[in-house]
Amino acid sequence: MSKTKYIFVTGGVSSSLGKGIISASLAKLLQSRGYSVTIQKLDPYINVDPGTLNPYEHGECYVTDDGAETDLDLGHYERFINIPTSQANNITTGKVYQTVIEKERRGDYLGKTVQVIPHITDEIKHRIKILGNKFKHDFVITEIGGTVGDIESLPYIEAVRQLRWEMPGSSLVIHLTLVPFLSASGELKTKPTQHSVKLLLENGIQPDILVLRTEHNLTKEIREKVARFCNVGIESVIQSIDVKTIYEVPLLMSEEKLDVQVLEKLKLEVKEKPALNEWKAFLNKMQNAKKTVSVALVGKYIDLQDSYKSIVESFVHAGASNETKVQVKWVDAENVNNQSIAAIFKDINGILIAPGFGHRGIEGKILAAQYARENQIPFFGICLGMQCAVIEFARNILGYENANSTEMIDNTPYPVIDLMEAQKSIIEMGGTMRLGSYPCKVKKGSLVHQTYKTGVVNERHRHRYEFNNTYLNDFETHGMIASGVNPESELVEIIEIPAHPWFIGVQFHPEYKSTVVNPHPLFVSFIKACLLNKSNK
Ligand code: GLN
Repeated sequence: MSKTKYIFVTGGVSSSLGKGIISASLAKLLQSRGYSVTIQKLDPYINVDPGTLNPYEHGECYVTDDGAETDLDLGHYERFINIPTSQANNITTGKVYQTVIEKERRGDYLGKTVQVIPHITDEIKHRIKILGNKFKHDFVITEIGGTVGDIESLPYIEAVRQLRWEMPGSSLVIHLTLVPFLSASGELKTKPTQHSVKLLLENGIQPDILVLRTEHNLTKEIREKVARFCNVGIESVIQSIDVKTIYEVPLLMSEEKLDVQVLEKLKLEVKEKPALNEWKAFLNKMQNAKKTVSVALVGKYIDLQDSYKSIVESFVHAGASNETKVQVKWVDAENVNNQSIAAIFKDINGILIAPGFGHRGIEGKILAAQYARENQIPFFGICLGMQCAVIEFARNILGYENANSTEMIDNTPYPVIDLMEAQKSIIEMGGTMRLGSYPCKVKKGSLVHQTYKTGVVNERHRHRYEFNNTYLNDFETHGMIASGVNPESELVEIIEIPAHPWFIGVQFHPEYKSTVVNPHPLFVSFIKACLLNKSNK
């Protein structure tokens, strides 16, 4: 019997039921009982990674330490279990086919017809098992994207079916479905769940545990009915009721004994009940926060808030740490202009300019940076947000008229943000940015040094353009300093204005590293500065 246990999480009836949160919650519970766990996401689309997808299509692209551009669910995994994920934690159909086709070209299958079964399914199985074989985790939880019945997910479901047979006693399937409430008759309906389980059965998979997403409490009768029709015991019918925050879900799953069910079915020691003290303390602070601050998040994908998922969650962590509720005002950069700006930022205690690509909305972001600088409002610029602050400073303090990033204007007279040398020869768009974790040396005596409390930090990157060091001297003598630089390349990673109460721009993405247990120090410090701004008003 394999030592590593494999848990597969599938979904039925509807998308967006929260498979990622259920997977992360289960991982959290198993982890707090002393087991080592990792979580993996299988995505059925043909893009090799979501890096080339518009955030409107797929939400934020999450970046791992080793530079993988991945699904935003990996962010939930890290935020919940506080363990970094990697390339191996996100598999897409594009990646699977790319590998199989490369092997075919190399001649690895010489003489054979290359087919979905066994070649594609073997590659999927290999990529599922890598995490168990290489890292020897007690559990690998694999979330299968999409909904059972989708054409795209069939090879994944088939791979799961085969693995179940190959590893008897070492795997488990959890199926998440929806129990809709019909308000006209005042009833909860189980039929969609029954049909969804039938669909899984047609594909050769009997789920071991059913998690039912519902707006209302499930009665014993409903649980019994689902159990009877779907061949599971009533104790394996788990309720997942709607809650105000995703961070409550591990506690609800603990009450419903999801982790106990998993351990008993896999014949593992249940060990002591997880205390989850840190988690509860965080929730307590978050839910009972008496103070509030308003932060403007200036971006261009604001109609889909999932585009900035990690930033919003970082605010939640930093808010709890300050016992403060962070109210986010979503500001469309395209609406920011000289006429509208004062009204937009009227009751705002802090301004965050979001990451982004392309020129749309850029002038609004530059204006917002100017407004924050001139009005002593705490300012946090992330990646493109930092670049906007640099452009603004160049134009309005250094007098570099029409300074810009060469991403926006190719032949700008003052390219204060410019393409990295290494990027100039790159033509392909997929996976070619400066990606993943890089060290950053933090200047003693700076605000970031006080914040991080250490001289070297590692943060994750995802960009092509950089601060142009030709101009560094001029910036520093006029009051914007490089307080963080890459120790090898001397690339500027952090800028700040010491004369301002809190003005920081970072070329990297701190939001990817904020977790419940370790809220990111820059976000914590930013929210503290926003509180101060509010009390000084
Ligand atoms: N578009 C900018 C660059 O490529 C910023 C990218 C970002 O904000 N992630 O450098």
